Amino acid sequence: MALHSDRYSQILDSALDAVGNTPLIRLDRIAAEEGLKCNLLGKVEFLSAGGSVKDRIAKSMVLAAEKEGKLIPGKSVVIEPTSGNTGIGLAMACAIKGYPVIITMPNKMSREKEALLRALGAEVVRTPDEEPWDSPKSHIGVAKKLQEDIPHGIILDQYRNVNNPLAHEYTTGPEIIDAVVSTPSTLARPSSLKVDVFVAGAGTGGTITGVSRSLKKSHNSQCIVVGVDPIGSVLAFPDQLNDASGAASKPYVVEGIGYDFVPQVLSRDPADVDYWMKTSDENAFDIVQKLMRTEGLLVGGSSGSALSGTLAWLKTEQGQKIAQTEGLNVVVLLPDGIRNYMSKEWFLDFALCPGPSRIPKSVLEP
Ligand code: PMP
Repeated sequence: MALHSDRYSQILDSALDAVGNTPLIRLDRIAAEEGLKCNLLGKVEFLSAGGSVKDRIAKSMVLAAEKEGKLIPGKSVVIEPTSGNTGIGLAMACAIKGYPVIITMPNKMSREKEALLRALGAEVVRTPDEEPWDSPKSHIGVAKKLQEDIPHGIILDQYRNVNNPLAHEYTTGPEIIDAVVSTPSTLARPSSLKVDVFVAGAGTGGTITGVSRSLKKSHNSQCIVVGVDPIGSVLAFPDQLNDASGAASKPYVVEGIGYDFVPQVLSRDPADVDYWMKTSDENAFDIVQKLMRTEGLLVGGSSGSALSGTLAWLKTEQGQKIAQTEGLNVVVLLPDGIRNYMSKEWFLDFALCPGPSRIPKSVLEP
């Protein structure tokens, strides 16, 4: 078996060195079921140390702030509004480095995320889901107030911090390129040796913006980048997509993607993101189940959204040409794992739902 990375054959200095460097895994069974001739590949981010794609930006924002002298050991208190995963990455980095952490997080985010945050030593303030982003009661508003009131409080601000998209431009994108160009094309598994399509959901938009820049600038200027945004969010472009898909700010259950404002780090420039797809909770959770039951991948809800957007895009006119061409590589980013969502109804509904059983009645009813 090929070693995924030299790094794992050596002793690491801390858990921060086990951030990122995640595998690209073929989704062959789903591709076959969908009648795809292209390669369908998942970038599996729950295998990062903190369990999500956001470990990367937490690490890079902390390291950059330390370098710039903005984080002062023994004084600074790190405060961050987040849907949870950036908070977990920050709490992990700050546990190692010794900074106290306070996370503000809307109520709808899972108890598992709160438990992980507290386990890593962070304090957590929950905020009402229905408060608009610019309300003083929203997770963003409460974080600002905390920063004003706590001496040496600092918000690294994933919504505006350039190190968010840059972390993906420098790590996530190059890792994808590396895996694709170093996997040879064979008769059984033809490959263009390029990333032809990249798909990701957007929360802050750091992932899609940063990966797109790395792919288009340094690898394949023709690479098609597709953004995924839940129905009820306003991130897709053009805006009519959001209006047409149902009332903007309609509540949705999936966590980590979609917003009621456009974060500064999200590029809606069509040069960076070529197409946007709107996705429903229902389709997302169906696909999570499929990813588990056919590919054995323990991914979270937004991974289902990303793949459901990918499959829908591959059915569009432009997508069809890609879908039916052997060897083209379609990469979809799978941001976190199901262990963040084990208590959620949408998960328990299918996980604990009894299917046909091979256990003899004599054993079930002795
Ligand atoms: N999925 C999940 C589960 C997330 O936590 C996030 C981050 N909010 C995303 C997707 C989207 O990532 P980004 O902020 O880079 O757009």
